[in-house]
Amino acid sequence: MKLKIAIVISSLFMIWSCRPSIEDTADLNVQYWIHGSENCEENIDPPIQVVQYNRNTWILRQNKCTNYEAPFMFLFIGDEKALLVDTGATKDDDSFPLYKTVKQIVDDWTKNNGEVELIVAHTHKHGDHYAADGQFEGKPNTTVLGLEVEDLMTFYKISNWPEEIADLELGNRLMKIVPIPGHQASSIAIYDTATKILLTGDTFYPGRLYVKDWNAFKMSIERLVKFTDNNEISMILGNHIEMTQTAKVDYPMGTIYQPKEHQLPLSVLVLKELSFALTKLGDEPIKEVHDSFIIYPVE
Ligand SMILES: [Zn+2]
Ligand SMILES: [Zn+2]
Repeated sequence: MKLKIAIVISSLFMIWSCRPSIEDTADLNVQYWIHGSENCEENIDPPIQVVQYNRNTWILRQNKCTNYEAPFMFLFIGDEKALLVDTGATKDDDSFPLYKTVKQIVDDWTKNNGEVELIVAHTHKHGDHYAADGQFEGKPNTTVLGLEVEDLMTFYKISNWPEEIADLELGNRLMKIVPIPGHQASSIAIYDTATKILLTGDTFYPGRLYVKDWNAFKMSIERLVKFTDNNEISMILGNHIEMTQTAKVDYPMGTIYQPKEHQLPLSVLVLKELSFALTKLGDEPIKEVHDSFIIYPVE
């Protein structure tokens, strides 16, 4: 009889311990992202897809039918501050209700965890990453950061741009800011010490890596590799997907439909592949196609 009770108790415990809990992390390697439609009039996806990665981390994706860039956005919440990284490619809050979506997540969090201040930051100054800033400006308890290098140096307290790595404390959640100019002058990488996720914006993602300043880009990738040598990385997340699941094949530019997308996360190994390729290419900007990314110099 006693044995029976023990079995019942232990199997109950197994059921309890096996049930999915909010601490579980979404597997972003197999994540099904909304990816547009052949005919956007028939698209029934939400304007913003929200994926909760763990208890205090969310990844959002813009619907390709509102803007073909379909950028990702990221929300990290600490004890005192919430950090939204990027505001997408559309200004209009009817077709792209980003503030409403983020506020809902933060309000739900606040109910159980107390007030947090919202910081709106950006991976860099390109229109598809700050279009909805206006939705956040003037809202209570919200700070929208500027987009110029000087703004970043002031806010993150960086005196030696781009060599210096800065800390941003969200409250029991330290973020690290790594300046990586090259794709654009005020490009930064953002590292979350809690999840070990490294955000690389448009500098490194499964797609066409548009390189504006070749030398700056090369040095930034070198510094980024060094950063990954010194910090544990769970995955590297950029802001777009432009590669298909077929190695070396990207989607046509401006497409609104991307079936069978490459997975979003990239590994440190792939970052090192980029670094090695750039070193080999030397001082001359040259286009080069790799399995998971394309080095793509632009004027
Ligand atoms: Zn972009
Ligand atoms: Zn960009």
